[in-house]
Amino acid sequence: MKMAKIFFQTTFDELLVEFKQNGFPAYAAEQVYSWIYKHFVFDMTSWTNVSKTVKAYLHENYSFDLPKTLWHGQSLDGTRKFLFGLHDGQSIETVLIPAKDRLTLCVSSQVGCAIGCRFCHTGTMGFQRNLAASEVVGQLMAVTVMFNAKVTNVVYMGQGEPLHNFENMKQATLIFMSQKGLALGQRKITLSTSGLVPQIEKLSEFPPVNVAISLHAAQNKIRSELMPINKAYDLERLLKAIKGIPLKAHRFITYEYILIDGLNDRLEDAEALIALLDKKNSKINIIPFNEYPDSAYKRPSKEKILWFQNLLNSRGLVSTIRMTKGADILAACGQLKSECEKLNVWNKN
Ligand code: SAH
Ligand code: SF4
Repeated sequence: MKMAKIFFQTTFDELLVEFKQNGFPAYAAEQVYSWIYKHFVFDMTSWTNVSKTVKAYLHENYSFDLPKTLWHGQSLDGTRKFLFGLHDGQSIETVLIPAKDRLTLCVSSQVGCAIGCRFCHTGTMGFQRNLAASEVVGQLMAVTVMFNAKVTNVVYMGQGEPLHNFENMKQATLIFMSQKGLALGQRKITLSTSGLVPQIEKLSEFPPVNVAISLHAAQNKIRSELMPINKAYDLERLLKAIKGIPLKAHRFITYEYILIDGLNDRLEDAEALIALLDKKNSKINIIPFNEYPDSAYKRPSKEKILWFQNLLNSRGLVSTIRMTKGADILAACGQLKSECEKLNVWNKN
């Protein structure tokens, strides 16, 4: 028996080719894509304008299975968090963050993460596997169907390192951006990376979305302590690779900087940051460390956080602070809550 493909991993162009090969007209692919991604109707009996043959073909070859919601909760501030179950029993987290003029979805790219950053709860779980493109797109589809809500922005800041899963994240991005479907603009999507230099060098092969770099320290000694990846690709190599990113969708690169008490929040840390980055096209997103049970680090005081930000801004480095959202439901996560909120600052395009 033929295995049904999950529909949510097929780009519009791929569907078009497949339909042509089967003798179906191009408009049939448009109709199907539109029912799924513009109307979110998966029940083919409602597809009044689609022929019986096309429906029979889809029925035989595709499934429309979405990740299963194992748990979801809403915070007092409106942030929603989801725990999704996958076909092999693994689970991932997704966060939906409403703001005045947008609805941002923070998606996971992997089950666990191999990078092992010392401050990150996901990093302590180790790496399980990459998500398929259908599981990335499926997070958005499941949330959209559940709440009948239109997601306006997507950020790859959930669990996992998106550039470790380059091909599947590229495929998911093409699906998010398809004009025949969800039609998310390139400025509405942000990819966050811990700094995988070889993959950053390949970003010209990725759709031109916003890029955020998890910097967290401007000195190699401290960065290597926080992020083992810095031992493989240090700040010099990272900054060189960043200079090569085609700044098409965006006029700037966002740098995420988790502020940790006594570790990277001192005068010398701010000065190193000011010296390191190009003020013309850099924005700093200061994320006060989000403590979780047994975390090795502490969040600095409010005064210290403000002092650090003022120092950067007074020296011409644009920076914003993101305070924790959804703290009442996200407490166990230790990660998604802080990483998902920055988008509410930067993705204003
Ligand atoms: N792996 C990618 C994307 C997912 S992590 C990356 O590292 O960029 C997304 C963001 O969450 C990163 O900026 C990460 O540093 C941040 N984060 C992880 N743990 C955190 C914590 N305990 N407190 C605050 N932010 C955290
Ligand atoms: Fe992985 Fe990002 Fe967590 Fe580092 S911060 S362990 S790269 S998910």
